[in-house]
Amino acid sequence: MQKTFNNRPLITRSNAVSGIDEAAGEAWAIIAASLKNSLPEQAFHTWFKPIIPVEFQDGTLTIQVPSKFYYEWIEGHYAPQIERVLDETFGSEGQLVYVIGTKVKDPEPEKIIINEPKIIKKPTHTIPQNSTNRSNGNLFGLNPRYKFDTFIEGPQNQFARAASQAVGNAPGRTAYNPMLIYGGVGLGKTHLLQAIGREVLEQQPKAVVKYISSERFTQDFVESIKSNKANEFSAKYRVVDVLLMDDVQFLVGRERTQMEFFHTFNTLHQLGKQIVLSSDKPPRELDGLDERLISRFGWGLVCDIAPPDYDTRIAIIQKFSESEKVFLDSDVIEYIAGNFTKNIREMQGALVRLMAHASLTGSEVTIELAKKALRDLVGNREIRVAIDDIKIAVANHYNVAPDLLMAKVRTQPIAKARMVAMALGVRLTGLSLKQVGAQFGKRDHTTVLHARDKVIQWEREDDNFAYILEKLTENIENSE
Ligand code: ADP
Ligand code: MG
Repeated sequence: MQKTFNNRPLITRSNAVSGIDEAAGEAWAIIAASLKNSLPEQAFHTWFKPIIPVEFQDGTLTIQVPSKFYYEWIEGHYAPQIERVLDETFGSEGQLVYVIGTKVKDPEPEKIIINEPKIIKKPTHTIPQNSTNRSNGNLFGLNPRYKFDTFIEGPQNQFARAASQAVGNAPGRTAYNPMLIYGGVGLGKTHLLQAIGREVLEQQPKAVVKYISSERFTQDFVESIKSNKANEFSAKYRVVDVLLMDDVQFLVGRERTQMEFFHTFNTLHQLGKQIVLSSDKPPRELDGLDERLISRFGWGLVCDIAPPDYDTRIAIIQKFSESEKVFLDSDVIEYIAGNFTKNIREMQGALVRLMAHASLTGSEVTIELAKKALRDLVGNREIRVAIDDIKIAVANHYNVAPDLLMAKVRTQPIAKARMVAMALGVRLTGLSLKQVGAQFGKRDHTTVLHARDKVIQWEREDDNFAYILEKLTENIENSE
């Protein structure tokens, strides 16, 4: 469908505004205030806040939007509100004109009036040259994309983002020490942790910032014990200024590593160094984590990140497509935002797949292509598996009665079947170790943890077992 928002044309120009025209600023302030009252806060924040008023002449207000997409989106979704506010403010003669502003400096702005948004050239984007290029050994291990300005704010992450920013600006000097961010997979925890690290290094290049996942911390620690270098390991962590420890749920059940981390934590905290943690659950629900650690994690600030709402997802997709320099029609964007709701990483995966499809087949990114390219992802997403289906499938495979999985019997093949079922329970249902344990004759979470680890080990060491597990998983996910 071709949209031509007749009254309000789009003009492209190749420079960004340098200063705000005073009259335009005033006119826009009135309109913006009115829009703010008539729109949901999030919509206003996402779509109208970034607008820059450029010029106000003869009843025509020119405003700058970051991209063609913005223009289409605003006009496609908020035209009636804009119409009304313009009418109220300027009377029926009032006009609004859009320009796309880019960051290229050009003293002679080229203005082209275009009626058909489709033929607009892509704006050229330049990446602001901050000091990020400085060779700083500390930046090693930080993903260059994980910065505050690439993190889209929405009601579900606003608090975590603001707190992270505060910590990034004044590490160790806020009340947020430690700070712990918890939330589901793919919601931006790692992004925020690394953004804090980058911010600190931007402001204090000499600071020692250490980002590490708890899994890696555990592996390194175990290695250091094996090679008799545990002291060196400890020393390395106790001199950092900012410790960013990702996914602390991996410490569950690892007692020695927890002990080591406990000492690191105490040392750093006493020295007033900043500690930031992430976890997939609130600390209290981390069964199998030392009580002393759980209580320490709550000393500072604990905040959560929840899946983003629709408007925020739209904004994330838009930002991503802009940074990839691929412009998507709003129906494609809506399709993706509507179908990938729980996990931003999956949503980005879908976008990447779609862009790859388009470029490999030399076709345009249309809604038809999106539906075709993402069919299997959309169909299979968020499969929720019932623990009973797992028990039945696994018991069948090992040829034992499902009830025996809950019993105390420890003979083979029952014990093995039980371990496999518990491991798949953790992997496929989203239940906690404790909840899975409860489903198998009130077994302890450490038993479940042990089963999970064993199954991972068998999978690695035995191709045949890995194959069986894959088939079982398929069966379970397709049962219904
Ligand atoms: P988690 O650590 O919570 O599993 P990540 O931080 O790895 O999630 O985020 C997954 C992906 O989604 C990353 O590519 C990240 O940049 C992106 N992402 C998450 N939240 C946002 C956001 N609010 N704005 C932009 N990108 C985001
Ligand atoms: Mg992560």
